[in-house]
Formats: sequence, C-alpha cells, structure tokens
Amino acid sequence: MLRIAVDEISENGLEVQQDLVRAWVEPLIGPQFYGRDPFVKAAFALNRAGHTVIVRGHLSGGLAFVCSRCAEEASFQVDHSFTHVFIEAAAKATNVPGEMDSDEDLEVTYYDGDAVELEPLVAEEIVLALPVAPKCSDGCKGICQNCGKNLNEGPCSCASDVVDPRWARLKEIKI
Ligand SMILES: [Zn+2]
Ligand SMILES: [Zn+2]
Repeated sequence: MLRIAVDEISENGLEVQQDLVRAWVEPLIGPQFYGRDPFVKAAFALNRAGHTVIVRGHLSGGLAFVCSRCAEEASFQVDHSFTHVFIEAAAKATNVPGEMDSDEDLEVTYYDGDAVELEPLVAEEIVLALPVAPKCSDGCKGICQNCGKNLNEGPCSCASDVVDPRWARLKEIKI
C-alpha cells in the first residue's frame, strides 16, 4: 500500500488518495481509539524537484474513542495536515534543495531506488493526529470513584460530604 514510483510524479505533480481500512488503522491507534465508518481517508499531493519529492498529506475521517474520564464512547473527527520531504539517498550529500534551509521543521526521509513509501509516514501521522487522553467533552464529569456512576447523567447517591472513615480522622486534625 502507498508505494509511489517516483517516475509517476509528473511535472504537475501527482495526487493520490487512499482509504485507510479499520484493520490497518486500529493496531496503530488502539485500544483507546478505534475505527468507525466511514474510514479515515488519506490524500496526498506529491511534487518532484530533481532528487527531492515533497509530500503534502491530509488525513480526514471519523474515529471513535473511549473517554478518558467517563469511559463512554465518543467520536473524534480526524483533520490533520502534514508535509514531508523525501530525498533520494544517492543524492544525500550533494543535492539539498535551497528551499529547505528556511524550514527546519520539515522532516526528511531518504529513499533508495525509485519509489517513496508513504505507509510508514501515514502510520506516524495518524498517531500525531490524535489527542492524548481524549475526553468526550471539555466538561465531562467522569465517573464517581466510589460507586462508578457516570456523573454526566446526574449526581450519584454518594453524598460528597460523606468521608471515607480512613480519612475522617485526618479531617479532625487541625492544621
Ligand atoms: Zn466523558
Ligand atoms: Zn457515587
């Protein structure tokens, strides 16, 4: 999947689209995130200049995840853009294009032979597209540590002023 022969990239560039199927995506993003229809789509615009291939990519689509606080399922819209530069390994020392000097953030991969592999790039970017510890909403109240009730559905019957007996004595200590 997503091995692009450099010769296929014309002067006008090349556009490539690929649906990222569940079975491929889920091992990368799981277990907190998982696939959902429609799948994540990857779209690429490739341009070639000499021994350099510049890839502009965009990932879009819908995923589901388990909320870090309340453990309910929620959906996440992927909308992630990235740019990556591939340079032919044989040209490594001699042919670094001038435009790269001004943009040190660009990641560079050296490619051997006559094709660039986009699959490892997509695998890396889809992980970067996802938040760490995602929540179903900014105001998610989570679950009660005592009874396990989802507090987004309303308060539980554990009154907040009931103190665990192990802590009750601490409360009496005057600081
Ligand atoms: Zn939640
Ligand atoms: Zn409770």
